[in-house]
Amino acid sequence: MKKEEKKSRIGIMGGTFDPIHYGHLVAAEGARHHFNLEKVVFVPAARPPHKGARVITGPVHRLNMAVLATGSNPNFEVSDIEIKRRGPSYTIDTLYYFHHSRPGSDLYFITGADAVLEILTWHRVQELLDLCSFIAATRPGYRLENLAETLKGLPPGSIEKISVMEVPALAISSTDIRERVRRGMPVKYLLPEEVENYIYEKGLYRE
Ligand code: NAP
Repeated sequence: MKKEEKKSRIGIMGGTFDPIHYGHLVAAEGARHHFNLEKVVFVPAARPPHKGARVITGPVHRLNMAVLATGSNPNFEVSDIEIKRRGPSYTIDTLYYFHHSRPGSDLYFITGADAVLEILTWHRVQELLDLCSFIAATRPGYRLENLAETLKGLPPGSIEKISVMEVPALAISSTDIRERVRRGMPVKYLLPEEVENYIYEKGLYRE
């Protein structure tokens, strides 16, 4: 009897990563282990479609920091696909890219639960849910009821494609790190040393 071929599972870690920190790395490694992913590809968003007034650090800096942070983990990769593409960074376009470039793989899109909370407003959401499963990483104290309420709005069959993963290390946040750097407070142990050095060398987050 022909042995059934096992499909590979790829995690796509989507975020602004401004900057990338240990919370993101712990979430990616946790998802890799829990969902038996072959690898996790970090995809920094060039221009997240829903971002408001805040000025985001240049995409090349955020990409460089992601490369520095993930270099020591052979199961992690970084993709510049959203940075090379023009226009807003719609997740649907990114997923089609991986769907075509890694045919036959099951795709898992990993991101923060607050981002998933907005999922009903995302570009071509139903198509997205047909293409991949979602892993929503939550911070300690996260109110799951809000997410549960949002997911009720999804068509039947889609809810099962969204998993919630609690990540205590996500007590670390990019917003807090930016604010700390601005105020001259320490960020050591919140993010990899290479990323910390890069931030100081390039003078990021001073203003
Ligand atoms: P965000 O609003 O900046 O972040 C929302 C929350 O999620 C923040 O608390 C953030 O914490 C956390 N977070 C973000 N990425 C995470 C990750 N990979 N793992 C764990 N926590 C994470 O969200 P965003 O970064 O702009 O968007 C997240 C992803 O969703 C991006 O890939 C974006 O392109 C995609 N997205 C797509 C659409 C669309 O296609 N229409 C719309 C919205 C978002 P930190 O600040 O500490 O990271």
